[in-house]
Amino acid sequence: MLNIIDTSFDSCIKCTVCTTRCPVAEVNPDYPGPKQAGPDGERLRIKNPALYDEALKHCTNCKRCEVACPSGVQVGTVIQLAKARHGGFKKGPREFILSHTDMMGSLSAPAAPVVNIATQLKPVKKLLDKVLGIDERQTLPKYTHQTFRSWFKQQTARQTLFERKVSFFHGCFTNYNDPTVGKHLVAVLNAMNIGVTLLKKEKCCGVPLIANGFFDKARKNAELNMGQFSDSLMDSECVLATEPSCAMTLRDEYLEVLHVDNHAIRERILFAAAFITREFAKGNKPDMKPVNLRVAYHSPCHLIKQGGVIHTMELLNSIPGLEVIMLDQKCCGMSGTYGFKKENYQTSQSIGQGVFDQIEALNVDYVVTDCESCKMQIEMNTPHQVMHPLTLMAQSLA
Ligand code: SF4
Ligand code: SF4
Repeated sequence: MLNIIDTSFDSCIKCTVCTTRCPVAEVNPDYPGPKQAGPDGERLRIKNPALYDEALKHCTNCKRCEVACPSGVQVGTVIQLAKARHGGFKKGPREFILSHTDMMGSLSAPAAPVVNIATQLKPVKKLLDKVLGIDERQTLPKYTHQTFRSWFKQQTARQTLFERKVSFFHGCFTNYNDPTVGKHLVAVLNAMNIGVTLLKKEKCCGVPLIANGFFDKARKNAELNMGQFSDSLMDSECVLATEPSCAMTLRDEYLEVLHVDNHAIRERILFAAAFITREFAKGNKPDMKPVNLRVAYHSPCHLIKQGGVIHTMELLNSIPGLEVIMLDQKCCGMSGTYGFKKENYQTSQSIGQGVFDQIEALNVDYVVTDCESCKMQIEMNTPHQVMHPLTLMAQSLA
């Protein structure tokens, strides 16, 4: 049982800026907003645990309040830790299934063709809705029959030909659901004369486990991953992640939320676009041919939190012929597993409407985003296909 308090709440100057930036408070009148749920509530909860407010369950941990706060209060973290201390997470079969992505992936991928058909069938979706509370209006993610790790085995010999090496933390979605982004990262790095290695063993970064209250399991995964990083960094320059939430968790949440000390290697865990654009600045840029497309870019909340949007924009702007329209930085509302839960469906849709409307008003070929969860939400709610920035870059390789 986690019993950690994030003391940054004490720096709150009560300016209320965080509440003006909270996407949940904007659409859900049952949520008091980050100021009240975070620092204000924490002062009360410390005095008397009975003052814990069940409304904290509405927080999506999008971290927008933390980006807005002028005093450095880690509001989202204060709320997550308060939920953990006060039993604020409902941990039923649905939460277990949604958060144990490694386990679900290793069970589902071998039977992917059958699982993918079954989970799209109306009666199955109705059953999942009634029995588990996974909203039947959501499209469930498909699994891949060939995992990224098994595809990568055929690449291993080629990667040894490169003098420089980086490790790739692929994450659960790339391994079990859609390996496309991982394949494109390998293509891009190889075109820059950099080889890729995988960790000998990799566990889910822990973001869905934290979001559903499985902190002990998340900490176990964090400890295993940290050991793997230390080993792999003996041969490779750094560890890259393509998924913003994975990168944020490995760099920030391990220490701040799980209290797993990562400071010795934190600076060598990088969001892939940050590494690639740093290489560009050193003159290591692959030959690229024009990609004559007009795209809208949606910035994911957890990438905004890391200050990483600038790197993705730089990467996109380096692709010749590509016209990029940056959407207003609004939350899409999916927030990982949050939008799949029946009781959150309406809030998730109302939050995302601002993004869907912006996209509808534009005449673009594709939408682009770095986050798989945002991609799912946008593809479910607009007629557009959503691409990863690395997919566009891989397309432009001469
Ligand atoms: S983390 Fe997001 S949902 Fe939670 S209080 Fe902050 S802004 Fe609101
Ligand atoms: S933005 Fe920061 S300082 Fe202002 S009310 Fe929110 S937590 Fe307090």
